[in-house]
Amino acid sequence: MFSEAKSSTVGKTINVKAYGTEDVKKPLHSMVIERRDLLPNDVEMDILYCGICHSDLHQIKNEFGHTMFPIVPGHEIVGRITKVGEHVSKFKVGDLAAIGCIVDSCGKCEYCENDLQQFCDEGVTFSFNSPDKRLGGATLGGFSEKYVCDENYVLHMPEFKNLPTGQAGLAAAAPLLCAGITVYSPLKHWQAGPGKKVGILGIGGLGHVAVKIAKAMGAEVIVFTTSPSKIEDAKRLGADEAVISTDVSVMKKYSRKLHLIIDTVSAKHDVNAYLNLLRHDGSVVLVGLPPEPLEINAFSVVSGRRSFAGSNIGGIAETQEMLDFCAKHNITADVEMIKIQDVNKAFERLERNDVKYRFVIDMASIKN
Ligand code: NAP
Ligand code: ZN
Repeated sequence: MFSEAKSSTVGKTINVKAYGTEDVKKPLHSMVIERRDLLPNDVEMDILYCGICHSDLHQIKNEFGHTMFPIVPGHEIVGRITKVGEHVSKFKVGDLAAIGCIVDSCGKCEYCENDLQQFCDEGVTFSFNSPDKRLGGATLGGFSEKYVCDENYVLHMPEFKNLPTGQAGLAAAAPLLCAGITVYSPLKHWQAGPGKKVGILGIGGLGHVAVKIAKAMGAEVIVFTTSPSKIEDAKRLGADEAVISTDVSVMKKYSRKLHLIIDTVSAKHDVNAYLNLLRHDGSVVLVGLPPEPLEINAFSVVSGRRSFAGSNIGGIAETQEMLDFCAKHNITADVEMIKIQDVNKAFERLERNDVKYRFVIDMASIKN
């Protein structure tokens, strides 16, 4: 259904079913999109499960002002390889595999050479809403039957021990492809581990996985949430302590105590309140993407030589490392499975902060 002209740039394309929209005001609906025919290094995947991230919601609402319509969201993709190009060496038909946020990059710049494709000098190609160098238009994400991607950007799915085998375990692993890597990368970079007090701010899709990963890394984990109903859950997820962040007197007890805080909040909030919980040389690392600017008081960072930093997903090698780490430590997301036909209701609930803790779409439902 997208431009006829672009088909000629890569030869043949195949049509697949997807869910997307042409306009911010229009709900997601069934549509037919094109996937490129396999290039020599490409694999084709049947998508089994796709998570719903708050970034999908920001983008369908065009909250960052750079959404390319029509948009098909979805970047937490788990599936089975159905075809391989003639030069593919890492995957074979039938393999379980995964695709996360990154599907292409220049491969030559300083960043790509150091496995930091997310910072590619020429601009990384995300799995949706990026300029599609092969087909033209925008890349179209995982709310679809199939994805076609260069094998170098596809991840191997490890065996997750002690999980419900097959379907349930796989669906719960899908959110690791964005939520997992987005918190694993800064936790590792800022050296969360034994002897470190790590705060996790916001217990949504990213935050609840961050609690599990930080705990598995050996850190002492303190959760800061605005939702009283998540206090008990935070402890079940592995947190040592959980605090209602709107309770000023309780917050005071944590003043100057933490080494690191991972901030996953999706909306505007007062980061100074959290900078003040840091010890000297501590860092608040923002991974949440509030569309509005955040204000920082000079004294929040000057006092105690504190840092306010940010982090963006992770490279392909680190994403594989994260998947292997999570498999070893038996970490997956707590998910609520939905059918694709219920995706608009799921977005409404995500917007109301009413999900514990990640929606995952059973993509078999797209065939209905
Ligand atoms: P989510 O499931 O909606 O979780 C966000 C959490 O933030 C909520 O559960 C809530 O936690 C808290 N929150 C929401 N509104 C708040 C407010 N007004 N004040 C204080 N706390 C609030 O979202 P997600 O999928 O985890 O994504 C979180 C953010 O990370 C989004 O902005 C997303 O776009 C971004 N993201 C960034 C990257 C990256 O690479 N940097 C990657 C993926 C996602 P409590 O109920 O516990 O307070
Ligand atoms: Zn995401």
